[in-house]
Amino acid sequence: MRTPTPPTANPTTDAAPRTASADGVEPRVSGPQRALRRLGLVRPIDLALHLPLRYEDLTRVRPLAQARDGDEALIEGEVLVREVQQRPRRQLVATLAVADGGRCTLRFFTFYPSHLQALAPGARVRAHGELRGSWAGWTMVHPRLLKADAPLPAGLTPVYPSTAGLPQAYLRAAVARALAQADLSETIPPAALAELPGTAAPPWTLQAALAFLHQPPAGTDPAQPQDRTHPAWVRLKAEELLAQQLAQEQARRARGTRRAPVLHAATHGLPARLCAALPFALTGAQQRAAAEIAADLARPTPMHRLLQGDVGSGKTVVAALAAAHVIDAGWQCALMAPTEILAEQHFGKLVQWLEPLLAPLGRRVVWLTGSQRRAERAAALQAIASGAAALVVGTHAVIQEEVAFARLGLAIVDEQHRFGVAQRLALRRKAGDDTVEPHLLMMSATPIPRTLAMTLYADLDISTLDELPPGRSPIVTKLINAQRRDEVIARIRTQVMQGRQVYWVCPLIEDSEALDLRAATATHAELQAALADACDAQGRPVRVGLLHARLPAADKQAIMAAFARGELAVLVSTTVIEVGVDVPNASLMVIEHAERFGLSQLHQLRGRVGRGSVASVCLLLYSPGDGGRVSESARARLRAMVETTDGFEIARRDLALRGPGEFLGARQSGTPLLRFADLASDEALIDWARRWAPWMWLHQPQQAQRHLQRWLGGKLDYLKA
Ligand code: ADP
Ligand code: MG
Repeated sequence: MRTPTPPTANPTTDAAPRTASADGVEPRVSGPQRALRRLGLVRPIDLALHLPLRYEDLTRVRPLAQARDGDEALIEGEVLVREVQQRPRRQLVATLAVADGGRCTLRFFTFYPSHLQALAPGARVRAHGELRGSWAGWTMVHPRLLKADAPLPAGLTPVYPSTAGLPQAYLRAAVARALAQADLSETIPPAALAELPGTAAPPWTLQAALAFLHQPPAGTDPAQPQDRTHPAWVRLKAEELLAQQLAQEQARRARGTRRAPVLHAATHGLPARLCAALPFALTGAQQRAAAEIAADLARPTPMHRLLQGDVGSGKTVVAALAAAHVIDAGWQCALMAPTEILAEQHFGKLVQWLEPLLAPLGRRVVWLTGSQRRAERAAALQAIASGAAALVVGTHAVIQEEVAFARLGLAIVDEQHRFGVAQRLALRRKAGDDTVEPHLLMMSATPIPRTLAMTLYADLDISTLDELPPGRSPIVTKLINAQRRDEVIARIRTQVMQGRQVYWVCPLIEDSEALDLRAATATHAELQAALADACDAQGRPVRVGLLHARLPAADKQAIMAAFARGELAVLVSTTVIEVGVDVPNASLMVIEHAERFGLSQLHQLRGRVGRGSVASVCLLLYSPGDGGRVSESARARLRAMVETTDGFEIARRDLALRGPGEFLGARQSGTPLLRFADLASDEALIDWARRWAPWMWLHQPQQAQRHLQRWLGGKLDYLKA
């Protein structure tokens, strides 16, 4: 299908080469131009920042006498023989006699008449490709053929990432033109450049860096412009990170102009009474986080804070304290979780902690989900509208259109990465007062590595629970070949007979909920049979439950609740128990096909045990594939699980294994990810950009704007197009 491409708004900034149509009035968009647009290469600067994948050295012809196996080289010679062979496969074979007496065989498995013509016996040609063999006989498979009489280029030849319908030659010419057209003038203040880490002073200009990376001069080792510690690369990374920090700082400043209710808690009010009523003392980390949140709530700008802490670090009680603070100030609080099971657990805890304090005030904790019965829901909505509901707990249904709050002061979101931008915007209108918006607290058990937090979430203040409540016994993690399943079942038996509880997690089988369910059902039956005669410490027969995604919400809750009460000794489950469930008596976690899970996911699952004082074990069952081996990346994940239980270390390794795009998941798509800088190795540059972005907005806002436009403007234009 042909879709007409509209002309860009400003043709002078459009690098895509244009050809005039016959009448010379309407610009016509050619195939390669459309391909450029598909790649997002619209403005000269976009093309200038489209860096080569690799380089070819066509600046000199290599004598074969100096060649080594595997060298990429340009050779020149006369065609001696040319033939099309049929065996073992149809192929074009030509032999080249090179000036220094060497010979090289050229082989093509796909070829065109142009190849036959270029390789006519007696013709002189140049061939560029990888040399295989030795002095006894050299071969090039699918070399690039070039004319022998053309002058050699002055620099390395860039090879660009491209797409169908976009020939390299076209792309090279477009980039060369763009380099001349793009405004590459300096935007970074000299003082900032003087402090740029990782490069000798003075740092390279953007102009010089791009010239070098697109057209390395003759004599440059082709590996050099690919070395990301090269000053040209440092310059690009610095530019990119600065742009990102400028964007984040801009968002932060915009938030600074919005208003939220100023919430002060009374000195001897609810938070203090809640603390006094808790059966434990807060950890230092919990106290710190609670204080940071309280300070934010007392400011007139909306809080935008992430509370992160490893599984079991006690985030819920910090959330409860924040809620108490808000309620004390006379406002309402909402707490949302991504699943009903999780929301239900929070609800249970919060009712237990807060209701005794709220009841005398005539206020209460209210439950709200999409699956509620109509009358119950109507009553909840009524309480929310009247303000009798001091705290509303539920799934994301809580911020739906028809839920009207009397005065919503704070929204708490558990597992922040499932809470999208649209939901955040919806939330802004829920304060019940047009002049203010609610504060926002997000909670996450997937710690974000420092570098990622600093780049992608710079407009987010972070409180970290880096300390587990005392008395937790460390979890021992073991790798077990799935063939030793019997031993695992025997171990389960021992645990349940001692009155302990066990999780057995079945993997998600790719794209098939049905197969998934079948595997879980089979395991459930197997465990039921194996434990049929077993009794727990009180002589009760052992029961095995099955939890999977297809069950109605009410059934899931009933099963989860039975497990929480200890009525089920074993819970076989697909990954629905992934986050947040809290059953301190569970001491054994079995994860089947552990090699199929992501690292963070494994860590989350493991966090379901080790929540009480009993020694806990996590068994990772792996099944070697057909080759009898587990893939390299799967092995790295399993190794990480055995080596550490520190969520931050796990997150760091997960980021290193997967890269930020996947680490954040598809939900974050739209976040401009880094093209040049690397979160793992460029921490010093990230720090530098973070220091200078606020300075630039303050002292040189026009430069800041120009820099931002250069780096992120193209994306916006492209998306609008
Ligand atoms: P998570 O951070 O994973 O959400 P939870 O809030 O569910 O952790 O807390 C895990 C368990 O630890 C809960 O049973 C909770 O009551 C308990 N807990 C929280 N804080 C403390 C503390 N300071 N001392 C002892 N136990 C605590
Ligand atoms: Mg939690």
